[in-house]
Amino acid sequence: MLTFGRTNIIFGLALALSIVLYFFYSFPFWIFGLLLFLYSLILFYGCYYIRSGFFMPVICSLPGKNKQIVLSFDDGPHPETTGRILDILEKHKAKAVFFCIGKKVKDNPYLFKEMVNRGHLVGNHSFSHDAYFDFWSWKRMMADLKQMNDVSENTIGSKLRLFRPPYGVMNPNLKKAILRGGFVPIGWSMRSFDTRAKDKDKFLKKLNQSIAPGRIFLFHDSMEITGVVLDDFLKEVKNRGYAVVALDKALPLQPYA
Ligand SMILES: [Zn+2]
Repeated sequence: MLTFGRTNIIFGLALALSIVLYFFYSFPFWIFGLLLFLYSLILFYGCYYIRSGFFMPVICSLPGKNKQIVLSFDDGPHPETTGRILDILEKHKAKAVFFCIGKKVKDNPYLFKEMVNRGHLVGNHSFSHDAYFDFWSWKRMMADLKQMNDVSENTIGSKLRLFRPPYGVMNPNLKKAILRGGFVPIGWSMRSFDTRAKDKDKFLKKLNQSIAPGRIFLFHDSMEITGVVLDDFLKEVKNRGYAVVALDKALPLQPYA
């Protein structure tokens, strides 16, 4: 598997070879430009494709071929949309995992408590979800994740261990913050794109077509359309003989500290 460490070794050797070719065999200078371009391309893939496991292993699906899926919801809690989603999940007796943003938990602590009271898991999705989070130092990232965990501890009495990177972006600094903070990174294998979906029917059709063994679905409980289609989606999940499982029941995980 392509990892950050292996990529650095391969490109280190390629750079040494290019230097030899440039100085001793008069290869053109653009060979260095080509190397830089390829290196940037691979790094970009590692940062933005969470399933690559490029910087560190990230849980993105369940092992095996059992007809079970996991539902995950990011970016809440939201005072207008999260309640409806909680009610639909309860109707279907489905347990999900909510990756919440600390500042929103601070504004809506009752919804965060409600998630836990109704048997769902809650995870850390940073305190700020800052637009420049991915460019921060690992210390600043860690402080932000800790701030979210402090809010969680004040609200439900537990610190969170499950973590989903803001914007799903991984990088070496975030890896360091995750390891130092003792977090378990959780990705997804099916991105619903509910943040962009406009047409309810098309959206539901796409979701229904995506049901497959072991998939972890990424939704946003902050999006209205998610609550609009969730009931029909869960009916289809059941009709197809699938079960919605809690992440800590399907995998040996310790979600809280
Ligand atoms: Zn997010």
